[in-house]
Amino acid sequence: MYALIVSKATEYFKMTFFFVWQLMGIEIEPEYGGSGMSFLSSIVAIEEISKVDPAVAVYVDIHNTLVTSLIRKVGNPEQKKKYLPDLAQCKVSTSTILTALKTRSFAANSFFFQGGSIAISEPTSGSDAFSMKTTAKKDGSDYILNGSKMWISNADVADTFLIMANANPSAVSIFNDQ
Ligand SMILES: Cc1cc2nc3c(=O)[nH]c(=O)nc-3n(C[C@H](O)[C@H](O)[C@H](O)COP(=O)(O)OP(=O)(O)OC[C@H]3O[C@@H](n4cnc5c(N)ncnc54)[C@H](O)[C@@H]3O)c2cc1C
Repeated sequence: MYALIVSKATEYFKMTFFFVWQLMGIEIEPEYGGSGMSFLSSIVAIEEISKVDPAVAVYVDIHNTLVTSLIRKVGNPEQKKKYLPDLAQCKVSTSTILTALKTRSFAANSFFFQGGSIAISEPTSGSDAFSMKTTAKKDGSDYILNGSKMWISNADVADTFLIMANANPSAVSIFNDQ
């Protein structure tokens, strides 16, 4: 079946399937709707997907090993409760998916990418993240982000973004409102 999906479906539809197959919350704890498995499990899954569709495997990799793992490791309880269930579970109904498979109609507007994206790189900083120019300035209960990012995978379609910004000129920090 995956061969059919790879050859005919939109990227959105392919990604929907990875949520259905519980491959988008591999390490996320079951209490947040994930599979509660290990980092090694993520690597095995990504390697297997890469054999068939390396481009899609990158989406699965970034989502699992960068975005969700950072929220799991450095997020506070409220942030985990807010973001992890959405990142782990499929929001498209089973009947919509079954209809698409039956009719072989994978129109992009029926499906959406609900994954995560991580924005570190900038026009003037790649590996050297300490030279990033994007700033996060506290403004009451908000932060104002200023700067620009480049080469951000999934950026055009993701609905959860981890933005790296400098909240302290002497340090680099993940933008976090806590
Ligand atoms: C397909 C693709 C997807 C990407 N997706 C994302 C994404 O989702 N999010 C994101 O934030 N970024 C993303 N990037 C950007 C990527 O992370 C950067 O390209 C990467 O960090 C390298 O930075 P750079 O291109 O500025 O190269 P540079 O940092 O300028 O490095 C150039 C060369 O110098 C070497 N080098 C750098 N520093 C040192 C050092 N201290 N010692 C020795 N050698 C060094 C590097 O190994 C490299 O060979 C993506 C890039 C690509 C190509």
